[in-house]
Amino acid sequence: MTEHVLVINAGSSSLKYSLVDAATGEAAATGLVERIGEDRSHHVHNGHEDDQRVPDHEAALEAAVQVFDKYGPSLSEIEIVAVGHRVVHGGDRFAAPALVDDDLIAAVKDLIPLAPLHNPANLEGIEVARRLFPDLPHVAVFDTAFHQTLPPYAYTYAVPSSWLDDYGIRRYGFHGTSHAFVSEQAARVLGRDPGDVNMIVLHLGNGCSAAAVRGGQSVDTSMGFTPLEGLVMGTRSGDVDPAIHGHLARVAGRTAEETDRSLNSESGLKGLTGANDFREVLRLRANGDERAKLAFDLYCYRLKKYIGAYYAVLGTVDAVVFTAGVGQHSAEARAAAVAGLEGLGIHLDPIRNADPSGPVVSTDESPVKVLVIPTNEEWEIARQSVAVLAAR
Ligand code: AMP
Repeated sequence: MTEHVLVINAGSSSLKYSLVDAATGEAAATGLVERIGEDRSHHVHNGHEDDQRVPDHEAALEAAVQVFDKYGPSLSEIEIVAVGHRVVHGGDRFAAPALVDDDLIAAVKDLIPLAPLHNPANLEGIEVARRLFPDLPHVAVFDTAFHQTLPPYAYTYAVPSSWLDDYGIRRYGFHGTSHAFVSEQAARVLGRDPGDVNMIVLHLGNGCSAAAVRGGQSVDTSMGFTPLEGLVMGTRSGDVDPAIHGHLARVAGRTAEETDRSLNSESGLKGLTGANDFREVLRLRANGDERAKLAFDLYCYRLKKYIGAYYAVLGTVDAVVFTAGVGQHSAEARAAAVAGLEGLGIHLDPIRNADPSGPVVSTDESPVKVLVIPTNEEWEIARQSVAVLAAR
């Protein structure tokens, strides 16, 4: 049965949408409105560009509805069963997607201190979409939810325990929608029930995170209280010694906000090379740039450390799974991340890895399979939305 879900991902100045068939993942339309509130906004819908001033998110969604009429498919001809909203932070309140109602909105508002940039924008998207589509059910799908199965010793920081009670300081993890989707697809590739498979999933996009998934449940993940912790990313540092904050305050007079900003926006590949785009780092490295070589080595070394750590966490591992821009497309990063791990049963096939014709890039004999699986967060949001409706 065809069940189309309008999937909405509202950012602070952008609104991404797609109309997805929850059964097949096929997107009847995808669109993006950027630079909302600026003099000239940019709107792409199924490849058609439509630039006009879009003052706010409400106008952005109205513009989206108009271009559905203009360029198709016509919304009057496609039955939409739900609107699925990406919400970044569900705190420890949401371990699963949930139907949007006033209580949910209040709960997401309460979580704004944990995600001050993302949750307000996500809420704006929900409120605007509820006004435009008042008769449709709306479902919130949380980026943190998949990681709510982490055991306390994996999510707790060894800090004064009152920090958890007073300020919610613990590890939450992010990219959960992608990890959920990719780990299920990987089990399918292996021909196994997700409940029987252990795997390490590496989501390597602009943001990067690793997850240890045991029997379909996340038991550890590299992002923590915020998406800053863990792997080296486009502009984020990943793991650093938190004492850097205090030291820079003392020797350089830097405020907490300044150091926070640097670690989030001026670090990672960008901080090391000037370029946050992995392809540019590869190009610089190929031209002999020493800083790009260091950045690549550090990026892959950090990946390898997490693979080793999560191998120990899981005990037995059936697959290491690469996804998102770098994971799907960089054979060099995959090769460097698992180089020398043959002792763990991870044997990459260099020919398959260089030019994958299917998801498996390890040798046939490799006890641990290495897989490349495209992520599809929109499809996962559509699937989860439909599942919430079915459970009503
Ligand atoms: P995403 O956030 O999933 O769109 O991933 C973005 C990252 O993937 C950027 O750092 C891109 O440079 C990187 N990327 C995309 N295509 C390639 C490619 N062919 N080779 C290496 N990196 C790529």
